Amino acid sequence: MLEMLRNIVQEVNLAEDLDSALKIIVQRIREAIGADVCSIYMRDQRSGRYVFQANEGLNREQLGQISLAAGEGLVGLVAEREEPLNLDLATSHANFHPVEGIGEEPFNAFLGVPIIHQREVLGVLVVQQKEQRRFDESEESFLVTISAQLAGVVAHARVTGSITFDTVGSRPPDSSKVRGIAGAPGIAIGEAVVVSPVADLYAVPDFKTSDRRSELRAFKKALIAVRADIEMVAEKLEEQLNPEEHALFDVYLRILDDATIGTEVASRIKAGQWAQGALSQVMIEHIQNFERMEQSYLRERAVDVRDLGTRVLAYLQAADSRQQSYPDSSILVGEELTASILGEIPREKLAGIISITGSGNSHVAILARAMGVPTVMGAGDLPYTRLQGREVIIDGYYGEVYLNPDAALRERFAAALAQGEEVSQDLESLRGEICETLDGHRLSLWVNTGLVEDVEHALDHGAEGVGLYRTEVTFQRLDRFPSEEEQRQIYRSQLQAFAPLPVTMRTLDIGGDKALPYFPIKEDNPFLGWRGIRVTLDHPEILLVQTRAMIKASAGLDNLRIMLPMVSNLSELEEALEFIRRAHHEVVEEGSEVSMPPVGVMVEVPAAVYQARELARLADFLSVGSNDLTQYLLAVDRNNSRVADLYNAFHPAVLHALRQVAEAARAEGRQVSICGELAGDPAATVLLLGMGFNALSMNANSLARVKKAVRSLSLTEAGPIMEQVMNLGNSLSVHQRLQTFLSDKGLSGFFHAPLD
Ligand code: PEP
Ligand code: MG
Repeated sequence: MLEMLRNIVQEVNLAEDLDSALKIIVQRIREAIGADVCSIYMRDQRSGRYVFQANEGLNREQLGQISLAAGEGLVGLVAEREEPLNLDLATSHANFHPVEGIGEEPFNAFLGVPIIHQREVLGVLVVQQKEQRRFDESEESFLVTISAQLAGVVAHARVTGSITFDTVGSRPPDSSKVRGIAGAPGIAIGEAVVVSPVADLYAVPDFKTSDRRSELRAFKKALIAVRADIEMVAEKLEEQLNPEEHALFDVYLRILDDATIGTEVASRIKAGQWAQGALSQVMIEHIQNFERMEQSYLRERAVDVRDLGTRVLAYLQAADSRQQSYPDSSILVGEELTASILGEIPREKLAGIISITGSGNSHVAILARAMGVPTVMGAGDLPYTRLQGREVIIDGYYGEVYLNPDAALRERFAAALAQGEEVSQDLESLRGEICETLDGHRLSLWVNTGLVEDVEHALDHGAEGVGLYRTEVTFQRLDRFPSEEEQRQIYRSQLQAFAPLPVTMRTLDIGGDKALPYFPIKEDNPFLGWRGIRVTLDHPEILLVQTRAMIKASAGLDNLRIMLPMVSNLSELEEALEFIRRAHHEVVEEGSEVSMPPVGVMVEVPAAVYQARELARLADFLSVGSNDLTQYLLAVDRNNSRVADLYNAFHPAVLHALRQVAEAARAEGRQVSICGELAGDPAATVLLLGMGFNALSMNANSLARVKKAVRSLSLTEAGPIMEQVMNLGNSLSVHQRLQTFLSDKGLSGFFHAPLD
């Protein structure tokens, strides 16, 4: 059964579009179960009706013509109830609804299961049989299993389908939404520019050409070049290979000479596709055909075809002297975008970023936040190679991408965008103003930094210090651990740029999803494993070198604070303090006149919340890492788009924890700040103020908004609002309450509500 499941899923995965995927599903399932009929009804996103879309065994002329509402007929009942329905005599069921012309009258046995992806019913899968019998348990569980497995594939194919629809021209395509992870806040409406890696057949964007002749010429030239390469290599290796191995080159040459491949590519070019796109489409089809072959010898040919296709593509790409041109509102889309790719596009043309892989912690997300470019990460369901030139909306607040936006959706986002721009202009005037409440309470606004680019940006936006300098970002850019002197110079420039304002440097925080290429950590549960302080305490040579470099760098400036990540017990703090004191002692002994910096603890593990008072007694300050604290309190992976709905720092449990930490620090007379993303959310400002946080540390782009929020409210009202909110039952009600509060303060432009 497992083998059969795997084969079906694999085959469906290779399907080109939704219709072919559904066709394969109904054929294979009918065979597997031995049923007379197998059908799929897909939910139409506009009407909400379930459309008869794929079938084996009934009148297929009715495909696309017949549909049922939720609750209507047996199919509608399965969809409405979201559970299987297994009947031996379908016609006697109260919900049976005969459909004219479909030809299902003679079928008695009925088994329907819903196809559900991310809580949404995408459709209903049905098998039917003439014989009056109940499908047995194993058949029912097979259908449930395959439906659950195929739901993701069907969802992906549906988004792809909505993109290809309008090229077919049958009807305007539906808007579709793909969920990813919020990478950098903001909204962008623009044109997709697909960035493809070099010589990857699967990442070539669709692109229409008007110059078919030169595309054809380029393709022929590339073919000739690859042929010459292969002949040369074959000749060189003639002596060293035995005849069977050498015969492989003949296979390669035959594939290249294969008239069908050449003709197919040429005819796609003649139809308007550029050479790279035509080549990739044809080669992928051939690869898939080989992969489907029964005989393993033939299946292996897929590798040869892929290799050849890649070689031809590489020649085409090398010969392509076209300058990438960027439309005014470019939205860069790519599998794995890098910082250098971002550097190639003029800043004023870059409206947004979508990365298919990666998380909010990826380098590109950190850079995007620093640059203020709305970004969605991890949008894995997006068929990105088909997006070139298409209108896309991205919502960097909620990590969502919209394709084929209809007028209403576009209007809604355009209004939110315009409102955001208005607010930004308003905020310009705040730069020189101090950050205090209407009743004169001062709150420090700090920035989170990591990249060199952050410094200028932060100072430009009037930061009052650095609340979190992520030292691992520098480490991630290198191919080995940086030396003490290298580190000293980097830290010195950071400290100098902000002096006399405080700079809080966090000791190396690797592990979890933050890897160093030269220090791999392989674990089953990396977020519960060797992370942050756990790594550096096990490697004192790393901690000592790093803290010595920090302390040396602060000579004559005295604006350094050191902060420890992922502390989960008192002994970690005690041990780290001992190392840091030793590092300080050594630096002083070497002749530097430098004082011992304050050392603080990040509260980002629930254990630290409950021991906040004890930690505060030993440390000089506390700083809440709300990103990790939310993840650990709610048991929700902060980088997993599947559970992204559950990740919410406004969850009352998180708020209670924050208050407890602030109270503990106050009771010990210590300063308390917060440096997770929550600090930069103006909706949270009133709560953090009410709880008694002394400083908020955020990305530079959030500074002005938070300052505006602080300057619009008073400390006396913050306490009662915070108390009220703490007693609400869930994050949704917390959000609603805070949004009403902000609106009453005239700050409604500071947020936009989720669409559903
Ligand atoms: C946090 O966890 O809130 C934090 C600021 O640290 P990082 O995002 O770097 O893990
Ligand atoms: Mg953290």
